[in-house]
Amino acid sequence: MKRTKIVCTLGPSTDEYEKIIRLLKAGMNVARLNMSHGTLDSHQATLNLVKKARKELGVPCAIMVDTCGPELRIGSFENGKATLKRDQTFIFSTTNLKGNDERVYCGYPKLLEVISPRQKLFANNGLLEFAVVKIENGEIICKVKTGGEFSDHKSISIPHVRLPLPFISEKDEKNIEFAAKNAVEYISASFVSTVNDVKELKDCIKKYHGKQEIISKIESAQGIQNLDKIFDECDGVMVARGDMGTEIHLEDIPSVQKNMILKSLQKGKKVIVATEMLESMIYKIRPTRAETTDVSQAIFDKTDATMLSGETASGLYPVEVVQTMARIINATEKKIDYNEAIEGNVENSKNKLEAISFSACATAKAVGAKAIVCFTENGKTAKAISRFRPQAVILALTHDEFVYNSLSLSWGVLPLLVKKQEELQDMISYAKRTVKRLKLAKVKEKIVVTFGFPTDENCTTNAVNISEIL
Ligand code: PGA
Ligand code: MN
Repeated sequence: MKRTKIVCTLGPSTDEYEKIIRLLKAGMNVARLNMSHGTLDSHQATLNLVKKARKELGVPCAIMVDTCGPELRIGSFENGKATLKRDQTFIFSTTNLKGNDERVYCGYPKLLEVISPRQKLFANNGLLEFAVVKIENGEIICKVKTGGEFSDHKSISIPHVRLPLPFISEKDEKNIEFAAKNAVEYISASFVSTVNDVKELKDCIKKYHGKQEIISKIESAQGIQNLDKIFDECDGVMVARGDMGTEIHLEDIPSVQKNMILKSLQKGKKVIVATEMLESMIYKIRPTRAETTDVSQAIFDKTDATMLSGETASGLYPVEVVQTMARIINATEKKIDYNEAIEGNVENSKNKLEAISFSACATAKAVGAKAIVCFTENGKTAKAISRFRPQAVILALTHDEFVYNSLSLSWGVLPLLVKKQEELQDMISYAKRTVKRLKLAKVKEKIVVTFGFPTDENCTTNAVNISEIL
């Protein structure tokens, strides 16, 4: 079983039922809906297909709604696009007009107050670069530093500037309402730069009675700076290398990524490495050697998940790219002795949940258990065990369908939907039978079982048991 999870962004290449079935079979664990593209109706249709497909195959799959975030977008061009040349003048205008090779509409008057001459502007994930010359009559007059094609509604980024935009726009509030109404498992929040952004999002989710977990997308210099505080409020982070690459120097991304994975493990939060992982497969059936190594490096560092964006949303080989990623994951994981590092985080195990999950992992390591079976109501125990990255498979038995699908993002966790097990004796024999049925351990091999005791008092996990498969 592969331990590292795969997040797939769905889009035009994958929004049909058969494709989604094939993605699930290839190893998709989380389906991401990118709200910066498509309409609420098109996302609703895709979401319904994912729910139907995961049920039909009887596999867990979390759904993640990805917000637009506070981003600046330009208007449209007369011909759908413009071609910009190096050193030409180009104007961003607050007057509503159809764009051409000289100017384009950008409807944020407040932007004029925070921008200044010599400031850099980027578009197309950094492929287009502008330098601000002056600000005059509601227009930002720039010199094109790197030219190229500029097309309708592209977003622009301004490094190190906190944009004068609310963190939750009207459109994003609708997206959050959509996520809550459809009971999706995760919201990935674009451009989180302070802990207050996460708190605002939490309040908004509460307003719509949602129970989504929050993945903070770290993609700005400010977000990186405030990472420690952001961690305290969210359930996980995404190393969003696409936008991050225009905000900080490219050469700093690898160390930011390593640091974010390390901190997530220490703090017991989830982490997703995203963007351009197998980018060349948008057009080609085989990835580059460098991409293959990039994916495996994230696995060596023990990320919870790796993500595909354009590769699955609009690429030519959406299924093959997931198969390729799964192959790289499987081959890399075989080279890692996970048990070696279990004690690495032990000094951080301060509370009861962390202590009991660490004990389960240490016990499994000591007796060479093949699986750690946890009976979990709300998923917390399985997530806490996952954080130690044990060698044993974490089999999470839950009777809650939301928890079952949400655990699909956690490293090393194999979620299984079961009936409530009332009697302790029942639970242990049930765990043994299930492990055997799933071929996770053979006769005479050991497993570790965690549960809350006494079972009839609905208490949190407080016991660790060693059992042998009969
Ligand atoms: P996006 O976020 O794909 O929603 O832009 C990821 C990134 O910026 O890397
Ligand atoms: Mn982004």
